[in-house]
Amino acid sequence: MTLPQDIPSSAEDYMDSQTHSNRPISSILIIIAMQTEALPLVEKFQLSEDHNSVFPKEVPWVRYHGMYKDLQINLIWPGKDSALGVDSVGTISASLVTYASIQALQPDLIINAGTAGGFKAKGASIGDVFLVSECAFHDRRIPIPVFDLYGVGLKQALKTPNLLAGLDLKVGKLSTGDSLDMSVQDEASIIANDATVKDMEGAAVAYVADMFKVPAIFVKAVTDIVDGEKPTAEEFLQNLATVSAALDEAVTQVIHFISGKCIHEL
Ligand code: SAH
Repeated sequence: MTLPQDIPSSAEDYMDSQTHSNRPISSILIIIAMQTEALPLVEKFQLSEDHNSVFPKEVPWVRYHGMYKDLQINLIWPGKDSALGVDSVGTISASLVTYASIQALQPDLIINAGTAGGFKAKGASIGDVFLVSECAFHDRRIPIPVFDLYGVGLKQALKTPNLLAGLDLKVGKLSTGDSLDMSVQDEASIIANDATVKDMEGAAVAYVADMFKVPAIFVKAVTDIVDGEKPTAEEFLQNLATVSAALDEAVTQVIHFISGKCIHEL
């Protein structure tokens, strides 16, 4: 069978055509787990809430959308757990939302933004904003050859040397798991992953983005120091509002930078 010149024949070719496309990025998908992290951006870009949801009526996921210059912005927040009323944090909601949003919105680029724990031994401080180089899981231990690697689920973020040079962000590896605290087993895996920041969504978003060959970047702001003195939950809540402002500022700069550029120019 012969394919027309411009139709990619495999997912990898598709990724290649996306990455090398000379078409400016026209649609971005921002995935943010917590309302406190999302709302400052919703206000800044004057995004409006979608009342005719592109998602099934049963899900709590919320889409905010709008334009910045020629860039279509879709910001998805997984919403509040329908039974308990708290933000739907963690990998299950993150992967479902990423899957459904890619299907419904066909973004050129995904930005997963959020707060994270940081390791001071790796150079992280409260309020630092990291651009993630790669993501992996730390709570999927399957000690059988090859399944062990599947569990770790290492995925590369899109390489963005120009974005990095243009913005004042740190670079580090991200480790993801479904707990806010850290067990000794998790700690060993995080060290093996060489991670500087720890969250509850990144590697799940990366898994789905990779599946559909949508380039993805991860912007993570440090709310708590995991290898510090203070209890994580307390420190997280104390810093959430101020660090969300730093996150919001960084994501705004990223959006300004992206506007008018192609993927390969990032
Ligand atoms: N008690 C909090 C719980 C939020 S869970 C509340 O409801 O207000 C923490 C969220 O922040 C997750 O989305 C996670 O990605 C991120 N996060 C911040 N610090 C973290 C850490 N030390 N470990 C894991 N995730 C962290």
